[in-house]
Amino acid sequence: MTPTTDIGDLHWVMQILGDLDAGLIVIDKEYKVCVWNTFMQSYSGIRAEEIVGKFLFEAVQDLPELWLRSKVSTACTLNSRGFSCWEDRPYLFKFKNFSPISNGLKEMRQNITFSPLTSVNGEVSHVSIIINDVTDIAKNKIHLTDSNQKLSDLSRTDGLTKLFNRAHWENCLQREFENCQVTGATSSLVIFDIDHFKRVNDTYGHTVGDHVIRHTAQELRKASRGSDICGRFGGEEFTVLLPGTCATQALYFTERLRKRIEKSVVDYEQYSVKYTISLGVCELSPYQTSHLTWLEHADKSLYFSKQTGRNRSTVFDPALIR
Ligand code: GH3
Ligand code: MG
Ligand code: MG
Repeated sequence: MTPTTDIGDLHWVMQILGDLDAGLIVIDKEYKVCVWNTFMQSYSGIRAEEIVGKFLFEAVQDLPELWLRSKVSTACTLNSRGFSCWEDRPYLFKFKNFSPISNGLKEMRQNITFSPLTSVNGEVSHVSIIINDVTDIAKNKIHLTDSNQKLSDLSRTDGLTKLFNRAHWENCLQREFENCQVTGATSSLVIFDIDHFKRVNDTYGHTVGDHVIRHTAQELRKASRGSDICGRFGGEEFTVLLPGTCATQALYFTERLRKRIEKSVVDYEQYSVKYTISLGVCELSPYQTSHLTWLEHADKSLYFSKQTGRNRSTVFDPALIR
């Protein structure tokens, strides 16, 4: 190859690197910028003439200096390439994301490669940093994660009340039971049912009945704490797990909820519906040998409330199962 061809080749290489659809920076061991390609110029607004020969951290603000130094020094010491993925560090250079569908991403997401460059004597003298714009990949991944989360939420939620559905609530019950068995923690279970709900449906129709069920769920949400686990067990039956709560405190909760509902009026079109609920409470004790017996004992207590006049709470007593 003649020297003229060499220069021609080099010229081509420089054009290719310049037009690369990725950021290319070459720095020396003192962090002086040697190469700053077109991509870097376009996104940073800093022209190559302005930055080449300058100390990188002075020329570009807001770089994570310690992190970058560690990456560069590892690539130099090991004489091998290093990578950084957008999922670990979203970006190195804070560039605007110009895509119209931002998916909440204001800045370009970047995958970065650090490559040691050896001089003719075989020593690492420079490091190249290649910035790949992976914003679209990041957006898709985030969208997929969000969609999966929504699907997972939907599969656990009751459509009418937005409380947990029975299947998910039962999983929570089993977990709470097992957790209490191991830790010895206190926990109470509440089950309640709307009184004479058939009458509501028969008198006002199913739509009003649905409205009453939704109203009950709202009152339950208002009466419960963030740590309580509320579910629609089915029909007009609701279940609540009260972790860390003894029977006395659980009874305080059920009475508060019962009175709120007793006092409330559900207005729907020309109808004003008043209704009550009956409740059963069971604090976990050695009588409950599985999560299912725990539920059964709470249900027995609810049944007792129904039998003894409705619109009341009953705390589980072993006499109920004798
Ligand atoms: P009790 O005081 O003994 O609980 O009497 P009840 O009439 O409430 O008892 P029962 O369990 O026999 O009746 C429940 C009714 O709830 C029967 C069913 O048609 C109705 N139901 C179940 N799910 C829904 C629903 O999603 N919407 C409406 N509107 N009604 C429902
Ligand atoms: Mg009922
Ligand atoms: Mg019922």
